[in-house]
Amino acid sequence: MDQELKAVGIRPTRQRTALLDLLRRGGNRHMAAEQLYREAFEAGLRLSLATVYNALNLFAQAGLVRRVDVGERTWFCTNPHDHHHLYDEGASELTDLAAQELCLIGTPTLPDGAQLVRADIIVRFRRSKTRPDSF
Ligand SMILES: [Zn+2]
Repeated sequence: MDQELKAVGIRPTRQRTALLDLLRRGGNRHMAAEQLYREAFEAGLRLSLATVYNALNLFAQAGLVRRVDVGERTWFCTNPHDHHHLYDEGASELTDLAAQELCLIGTPTLPDGAQLVRADIIVRFRRSKTRPDSF
């Protein structure tokens, strides 16, 4: 973890190394700062929520995780591959959507000299309510 942090220009403090280690457990995940804070607490780390949030934003700026803002909520996605997201509005759940499942036809006209970095698409859905008397 230390090398991974150093490679992206982040000073590897004990707290940052431990948080990155926790993030990397369990494969691709979408973590809210509060969730990582709880996992850190359960692992015996005593950090403030602000410290966790600052570390996550630092990791996102360095490209170690991707920050995904949906309305008022923020997730940090650990999937390093090119992908979009599906958002279940009822469950407030974010999941990965493989890049090839969406086809972007054309790109918008960008300002002179600008280059497209990435298109982040969030597909929102709501499950229809099932009525117990419908059958
Ligand atoms: Zn993701």
